[in-house]
Amino acid sequence: MRGAILPGNSTVELVDLPDPTPGPGQVLLAMRASTICGSDIRAIYREHIQGDPAETYQNVVAGHEPAGEVIQVGPGAERISVGDRVCVYHISGCGQCDDCIRGYQISCTSPRRAAYGWQRDGGHAELLLAQERDCIVLPDSVSYLDGACVACGFGTAYEGLLRAGVSGRDSLAVVGLGPVGLAAGLLGKALGAVPRVGVDPSADRRELAVQLGAVDIACAPDETRLLAETLGAGAHVAIDCSGSTQGRAAAVALLRSRGRMVLVGEGNSFEIEEASPTLIHRQITVHGSWVTSLEHMRELVERLPVWGLRPEVIVSDQFTLDEAAAAYQLADAGQSGKVAIVFEP
Ligand SMILES: [Zn+2]
Ligand SMILES: [Zn+2]
Repeated sequence: MRGAILPGNSTVELVDLPDPTPGPGQVLLAMRASTICGSDIRAIYREHIQGDPAETYQNVVAGHEPAGEVIQVGPGAERISVGDRVCVYHISGCGQCDDCIRGYQISCTSPRRAAYGWQRDGGHAELLLAQERDCIVLPDSVSYLDGACVACGFGTAYEGLLRAGVSGRDSLAVVGLGPVGLAAGLLGKALGAVPRVGVDPSADRRELAVQLGAVDIACAPDETRLLAETLGAGAHVAIDCSGSTQGRAAAVALLRSRGRMVLVGEGNSFEIEEASPTLIHRQITVHGSWVTSLEHMRELVERLPVWGLRPEVIVSDQFTLDEAAAAYQLADAGQSGKVAIVFEP
C-alpha cells in the first residue's frame, strides 16, 4: 500500500509499505477519507515535538482522522463486519485502565497506548489496520468525510461543549475559527446555544464561519467590542479553539459573570494577570478538555442525522493521497477550512 509519512521539516514523503493483515480483534479498512488536524501541523509536520509520549511521532503513516470501509476482519472480531462503513477513534488504549474503561483512551498512560498516525499507522494510506473496539459504525446518511471530521475535530469540539454543559440557555463565544472552532459553532447551534459569536484574525475564516452558520457574527481579536451588542452582559460559555495565549485571554474577557470557559486548542500558555478581578470575583469556571470519549463520539455520530448536521460542510479543500504535500501546505497556511485527503472507492 502507498502511505504518507511526515519527516518533520514541512514536507510529506510518500512510501510503499506491505499491505497489513488483521490479527485477533483487528479489522482492515480501505481508506475513504482522512482529514488533516491542527495537531498534525503543530506536532509532526513542521517539526517532531518531543517530550510528551502521547505526542511523540514514531515515523508511521500519518493521519489520525480516518474513515473507511471494512474489507477484512481478523479472528474474534464480532461487532464489525466486512462492508461496514466506520470512522476510527484515533487512540487505541490498553482497554483496561480507568480512563479506557470510561472511553477516554486519549488519557490512557499504558505503554500499550498508541495513537493512529502518531505511534501506529494512520489514515494517510490506502489501507488502515484498526482495532475493532476503536471503530464506530457510521449511519447511512453520515458520509466518510463526515466520519473523518468526527474522528478528532468534531469529537473534540463536542466534548468541550458537553464539559461546559452548553444548552439553549447559553450564548456561546468561539475563539479561533479554524476547523475545531467551526465544529464548536455548528455543534453549539445543534445544542441550542444562541447567539453565537466568533473571533479570529483571519478574514477568510470569519467569513466562512458566518456563511456556514457556525456563528452569527465574527470579528478580529482587536475588535471584540463589536460583539458587545450581540452578547449583552457577555457570553455564558466561551470555548478557546485558538490555542493561543491571546485567544484564551480574549475568551475569558468575553464571558459574563459566572461564565464557563473551555480550553480546547493546544499549546502555549494560559495567562491571567490578576486572578481576583478576572476569575474569582466574576465566579468563572475554567475547564480543560482533551479530545473526547468513545461513548461521546458514538453518541455524536448517532445525533448528527437527527440534527441534520453534516460535519463535511467545514471541508474547504480535498486532495488525493498523491497530492498530500499540497494538502499539508494549505492546512499549514491556516487560512482554509478543513483540508481532507480522499480516496476513490
Ligand atoms: Zn486531532
Ligand atoms: Zn488504558
